[in-house]
Amino acid sequence: MTYSLAIVVPAYNEAQVIDDFHARIAAVLDGLDADARVIYVDDGSRDETWSLIERIAQADARVVALRLSRNFGKEAAMTAGLDAADADAVVVIDADLQDPPELIPTLIARWREGFDVVYATRGERDGETRFKKFTSAAFYRLMERVADTPLPRDTGDFRLLSRRAVEALHGLRERQRFMKGLFAWIGYRQTSVVYHRDARHAGTTKWNYWRLGNLAVEGITSFSTAPLRIATWLGVSAAGLAFLYGVWVLLKVCIWGDPVRGYPTLLVVILFLGGAQLLALGVIGEYIGRTYAESKRRPIYYVESRRGAPSSPDPYPRPRAPGVD
Ligand code: UDP
Ligand code: MG
Repeated sequence: MTYSLAIVVPAYNEAQVIDDFHARIAAVLDGLDADARVIYVDDGSRDETWSLIERIAQADARVVALRLSRNFGKEAAMTAGLDAADADAVVVIDADLQDPPELIPTLIARWREGFDVVYATRGERDGETRFKKFTSAAFYRLMERVADTPLPRDTGDFRLLSRRAVEALHGLRERQRFMKGLFAWIGYRQTSVVYHRDARHAGTTKWNYWRLGNLAVEGITSFSTAPLRIATWLGVSAAGLAFLYGVWVLLKVCIWGDPVRGYPTLLVVILFLGGAQLLALGVIGEYIGRTYAESKRRPIYYVESRRGAPSSPDPYPRPRAPGVD
């Protein structure tokens, strides 16, 4: 049985690796009995990535190239690629060769056994600092405790999706896209394949700790309301303690006629409560902000230009807002 396969590759400022990447993926595709396509999504790169991709698309008929109108971020770039993919199986892979293209046949074998989502789990990771490994491990443990749908540990975006898994993802048009969470949330039959994660082939990582931290907040708030509950419990316990302390102070005054003192305690209590309130407000604000962003229902990305194999007319037109013609 032949089948169609699409490889989605988000790329942002990857001019240094994109040619090597294509050489390796092309070699892998040559060895498959699939009707294969590679969908490059240039996420508004500011280097020569797009012209290199255009050249690749000219030389290789299997290549589809999309350029987004600006840098929308990896999650949006992946979404653009998934929207353009109408194959039986779709693989999402990084352009920097950290995810070995040679693993794709293994992913396909598992898909053919009947799995809908085959994700690649990192066994060892080269070229990453201890601190990065530690923070990443801590994040996954935390997510496991708070999220409603647990994330598979040590798993990036590198995975294969079946047709119906891709279609399920098409239905999730939220603006806050934490793709790892969405992949897990759709369910279906999921399995993993362990691989060795290489160091970046060339170029530099686009993720500093600020962006990673924001992604972590994104992940937690998109998939869990635990922080809101924690704020509630914090409030309840602070109020309870304050009440007990109030009783104690009253008793002291009534029984021993304690003269008025306690400026330091007062200050500590006020500062503590002020801090706790600000924290809780911040947490609430995080969720309100997200609700606001979602309520605008803006598109997730815009495509500026497209090269390569013609596609069927948009199989997933965005739903129009109700009542608008
Ligand atoms: N990427 C993207 N848009 C961005 C940032 C990254 O499309 O705004 C792509 C990037 O080109 C690469 C993949 O996402 O193909 C992973 O990025 P990176 O290697 O920087 O992340 P890391 O592997 O360090 O997590
Ligand atoms: Mg990388």
